[in-house]
Amino acid sequence: MRIDVATLFPKAFEYFSLSIVGEAVEKGRLALHCHDIRDFSMDRNKKVDDSPYGGGAGMLMAAPPLARTVEHIRTIGPKDAAPHVLLMSPRGAPLTQAKLRELAGRPWLALVCGRYEGFDERIRDPRRIHEEISIGDYVLAGGELPAMVLIEGVARLLPGTLGNAESPVAESFTEGLLEYPQYTRPEEFEGRRVPAILRSGDQRKIERWRRYCSLRLTFLRRPDLLDKAALSKAERRLVARWGKE
Ligand code: SAH
Repeated sequence: MRIDVATLFPKAFEYFSLSIVGEAVEKGRLALHCHDIRDFSMDRNKKVDDSPYGGGAGMLMAAPPLARTVEHIRTIGPKDAAPHVLLMSPRGAPLTQAKLRELAGRPWLALVCGRYEGFDERIRDPRRIHEEISIGDYVLAGGELPAMVLIEGVARLLPGTLGNAESPVAESFTEGLLEYPQYTRPEEFEGRRVPAILRSGDQRKIERWRRYCSLRLTFLRRPDLLDKAALSKAERRLVARWGKE
């Protein structure tokens, strides 16, 4: 997979020399390229922002340098391929585990990071920007952290990136529920012992217990997730009963 990033702070992405993304890059599973939007400014002083028409606080990312950066990215890839271009924006569709899975299946992504008070609206042209993505209902100072969140989320789903091919399957959100509690050695910590069932060796019982914990935890902390989760009839009944208690 290839990911190109348009940003005013390419250095921010040095974070990825650490962690699982660095590993994916090293092993050739992910090619990550950052492009400095400032390099595409035609202005003598490399200006990329300007004040908003109609007045108001702050500056906006001007459209021409951004558009040129995206255009440049389009031209550097393989001839017969085109990047799927994402604009990082609080206005975008919320990033979810399902969206990460979908994006991880694409061969080539380009991420556009904003700064200041956001973008000149005209950067949003369906021929240039294919999707807008938000990482949550809050406002950050720039699109770099959101882009990094997306990249890390995608990278760990690439085949062979995690040591254990199974580990992304049974984790929070993947099946629409939060993850069950996990334990490792020591068997006793601060007087708390690992639940006996996990040492019982009875895999069926363990799976049932884990499913129950996932369900209960999701019910207590994120009941909103239960509407969309794939639950059996018995599980739906259990949840309904908890609701009445
Ligand atoms: N005034 C804009 C916010 C600008 S924040 C608004 O109200 O929508 C500056 C940049 O940071 C944005 O252009 C975007 O690229 C990035 N950003 C901030 N919060 C974000 C979020 N929750 N998700 C994705 N990108 C975000």
